[in-house]
Amino acid sequence: MTKDPDHLDFDGLRPPCPGLDEAHVAWREQLRSFVDTHITPSIDDWNAAATFPDELYTQAADAGLLGFGFPAEFGGWQDEPDLYHRILFAEEFHRLGSGVVFADLATHWIALPPVVKHGSAELQETVTRPVLAGEKRMAFAITEPGGGSDVARMTTTAAKNGSGYRVNGTKTLISGALRADYLLIVARTGDAGLGGLSLLLVDANSFGVRMEAVPGLTWYSASNGTIYFDNVDVPADRLIGAEGTAFKSLAGQFNIERFSGVGATLAMARVATADAIAWARERETFGKRLVDHQRIRHVLIDMIRTINTGYAYLDQCVWRFNRGEVPIADLSMLKVQATRTLEFCAREAMQILGGEAYRGNRRVQRIQREARIFSLGGGTEEILNDLAARQLGF
Ligand SMILES: Cc1cc2nc3c(=O)[nH]c(=O)nc-3n(C[C@H](O)[C@H](O)[C@H](O)COP(=O)(O)OP(=O)(O)OC[C@H]3O[C@@H](n4cnc5c(N)ncnc54)[C@H](O)[C@@H]3O)c2cc1C
Repeated sequence: MTKDPDHLDFDGLRPPCPGLDEAHVAWREQLRSFVDTHITPSIDDWNAAATFPDELYTQAADAGLLGFGFPAEFGGWQDEPDLYHRILFAEEFHRLGSGVVFADLATHWIALPPVVKHGSAELQETVTRPVLAGEKRMAFAITEPGGGSDVARMTTTAAKNGSGYRVNGTKTLISGALRADYLLIVARTGDAGLGGLSLLLVDANSFGVRMEAVPGLTWYSASNGTIYFDNVDVPADRLIGAEGTAFKSLAGQFNIERFSGVGATLAMARVATADAIAWARERETFGKRLVDHQRIRHVLIDMIRTINTGYAYLDQCVWRFNRGEVPIADLSMLKVQATRTLEFCAREAMQILGGEAYRGNRRVQRIQREARIFSLGGGTEEILNDLAARQLGF
């Protein structure tokens, strides 16, 4: 199918998708309207300040976004969203060429589901409901200064203390930590290895919890923090799920979250490519437009081709997932494919924009800065390649 050359913008670069219906289109419009009203006018200022105002949480809750994917009885959605709802959510929040607002706003997507599933009725009232209303915030803490990839070697401990636990250790690089009221942490309650790790919900204001910003991260986000736990007492009912089941509880969520990550990544690649195309049509060098130089034309086609490939793979994985399969190897490879696509498009967009990327185009500049994190967060490239290899029996 040929595309109207005037429409090789963010929307025009999304290949046709057989899975999108009218409800998805309406959802996309709702998301775009929210982003354009509440985020677009301020993104450059927030970028410079390395933060955004807390009121965005309540605005997102009022617009029905924070409750996305959670039970209606606690302030969530009436309907069960599907994977394309999730993908479009991520796409629209990355249309501005930055994932920082989304990363902080959506930390409860990972942190809250285990609480909804395993928490007491009291926790649903004190944690779930206020988080979905945007009144309280959560962060999700796995990574430690000693490493994030080798989770089986995690050293933060939660030793039995009376009927509860006493937590000691340090977590770092935690998105949204500095504004969190609750922390869902992975800590060692048992023996070495993955089977000794449990999920605990810790009040961020508990005695013995101390936080500081991660130096050097500025924008990415000033609320990304290191958290120190020094003899922090956690009541027994804050153990989320059974002891030793941290990663069993999280595995299903990680698979679902991977779709959001891929949606975000490919959206950023579309932004970079759209801006590169627009600039290549406008800028003249050596007496003709950039796009009239063969090398530039070919690079633009390479960018579009890799995006189309990414979406085809994404649609295939959605289709399989919806049939009840959990194609872990393909989900891992899809994420790597998407992040490589983004890095390629970010690099080439910066090259085509030349000095304009530093002078005027802030979307591409932001994308260049943030592209690397997509290859690290949600499972690094090496860890996912290894997971795929094991699944394929190597
Ligand atoms: C902006 C930002 C936000 C983040 N938010 C959160 C958050 O909210 N919560 C949270 O828990 N964490 C968060 N993280 C941490 C992130 O998950 C980790 O950075 C990631 O898991 C990698 O861990 P590490 O940085 O300790 O790298 P390491 O584990 O030290 O690994 C370093 C590099 O070596 C590679 N590597 C490791 N082992 C192997 C191997 N066997 N073979 C080949 N290569 C290998 C890794 O893939 C990586 O590229 C965030 C990070 C960033 C930068």
